[in-house]
Amino acid sequence: MVQLHELILRDAHQSMLATRMRTEDMLPIADKLDQVGYFSMEVWGGATFDVAIRYLNENPWERLRKLKEAMPNTPMQMLERAMNIVAYWNFPDDIVKKFIHLAKKNGVDYFRIFDALNDLRNMEVPIKTAKEVGAHVQACLSYTISPVHTVDYFVEKFIELEKMGADSLCIKDMAGMISPKRAYDIIKGVKDAGVKIPIDLHSHYTSGMTGMAYQRAVEAGVDILDTAISPISGGTAAPPTESVVAALKDTEWDTGYDLKLLIDIRKYFLKVWDKYRHLHRFNALKFDPSVTLHQIPGGMLSNLIFQLEQQGAHDKYQEILEETARVRAELGYPPLVTPTSQVVGVQAVMNVLHGRYEVIPKETKEYCKGMYGRPPAPIKPEIMKKVLGPNWKEEVIDCRPSDLLEPMWEKRKSELKEYPDIELTDENIMIYAIYPQVGLKFLKGEAQAEFTSDQLPLPINHPLTRAMVKQSFPEVKEIWLETEPPERRVSTPQIPTEYEVEVDGELFEVKVVPTGGFTVAAATASTPEKPKEIEGGVKSPMQGTILKVKVKKGDKVKVGDVLATIEAMKMEQEIKAEKAGEVKEIYIKEGDTVSSGDIIMQIL
Ligand code: MN
Repeated sequence: MVQLHELILRDAHQSMLATRMRTEDMLPIADKLDQVGYFSMEVWGGATFDVAIRYLNENPWERLRKLKEAMPNTPMQMLERAMNIVAYWNFPDDIVKKFIHLAKKNGVDYFRIFDALNDLRNMEVPIKTAKEVGAHVQACLSYTISPVHTVDYFVEKFIELEKMGADSLCIKDMAGMISPKRAYDIIKGVKDAGVKIPIDLHSHYTSGMTGMAYQRAVEAGVDILDTAISPISGGTAAPPTESVVAALKDTEWDTGYDLKLLIDIRKYFLKVWDKYRHLHRFNALKFDPSVTLHQIPGGMLSNLIFQLEQQGAHDKYQEILEETARVRAELGYPPLVTPTSQVVGVQAVMNVLHGRYEVIPKETKEYCKGMYGRPPAPIKPEIMKKVLGPNWKEEVIDCRPSDLLEPMWEKRKSELKEYPDIELTDENIMIYAIYPQVGLKFLKGEAQAEFTSDQLPLPINHPLTRAMVKQSFPEVKEIWLETEPPERRVSTPQIPTEYEVEVDGELFEVKVVPTGGFTVAAATASTPEKPKEIEGGVKSPMQGTILKVKVKKGDKVKVGDVLATIEAMKMEQEIKAEKAGEVKEIYIKEGDTVSSGDIIMQIL
């Protein structure tokens, strides 16, 4: 018998609907889902925590409690990113431990724990803690293809994870690249090595060969498969639950699940799918077998194309593909999953736009220092020298990255005490500890729930609608109704989220905000208008948001001084002075969006 792990309440909508499914969409069907008899149900973790507080004005802890109450018979699982927990950066051990305690207390039964680099040191603390609180630990390895990621590599690490106390294992093929042969060989290898605990295969349909991979996995003795109810399956999401159940029926691997009940559940999720139709992306629904060739995950690929477009270099597509593969090899073949996919992707874009390793984002440096964990293969000295400088050896850490972090819980707790209106519960402190800005806004009651398709003030194909969608979902490049004729499907305009509107001869600045309405921006302290060309003009090397302005008018700077930091492609980079002189004028302020080549300062 094979069992299924159901993804409809987490990975499915994270893959297809930008993680926007709400608790109100889940509860009406919870009772039916609870009757299926799944191995477990994924309900939490990944991006759901962030999206709930950032876009849905929903308390993620409350979702967990409500789902637990509504599905008492099904083990509830969360995806836990080792020391990144449910975010994208490293947290100290005290936060990781506390988080797992709270998650268990609020309803998580199974913890699926993974590390982007498969550095088992990063997984030790969460595994140990989850065991301590009496939860089931599903230890997970990120799947990728490279000369170091052999079948033996995976088998050896799985044996190690069993020794570390895991209750079950999982191959996390987040990019949907696993071939039938690889799936068979790894699972067979694990079984032949005498591993006793069950093994699960998690994949996405991206490559188009996942159904075959699942069949071979079953033949090799896989115990659990990851699937999602069909309306939010296929393409960049997982294989459909009902189809897998039907395919295994009357075989020795029969799940025993009630297909009629599943089809009932399917009908419900068709409506949920339609509720978020402004988020449908045709390309996400299609197979992309090119992944088998270039091995870049679909999500990362569309992000790279988007970044190129933003930097005005969409003609460099082929070059980017090749450079991504080169950078990944040079950085020791990290699996391309958040956050390492970001490190590799942005470095590749920088290399193509500015020359190889001429611009090095902070994240690449951190990665090479070992702050994400140990790269799967060693990085060559010449690359280390380029990234970290001639004294690179002194910068590299040998310990677990978390060993360098100060405990954070008490500090965050006392900071939150400054807000007497916020109830000082452990759950609230955790929201604030993990997402200090967005979390605080949520806790203060200032967050607003985003629109759904029916609440859009304008037709879905209207340019302003697209601009609104684009502001919330930079990865969405084109939206249209499926019923629309192809000639009317126009690409989303390039982020025109701010407009100047004339009303009775007076000029207003109008901002499109993601809550569905329009706000008229208040007059803000303005900076002088950016000149096109000017003597001593410092240009922004890329499109992005100014995070910090590090100098003020009148400051004397020398070559290499940091003038400002800019966030581009979700990464922070420094803009440095190329000439010494005095800061004569500053044309930007923190929070401004700049384009590549915009003059941000004058230094003479
Ligand atoms: Mn996934």
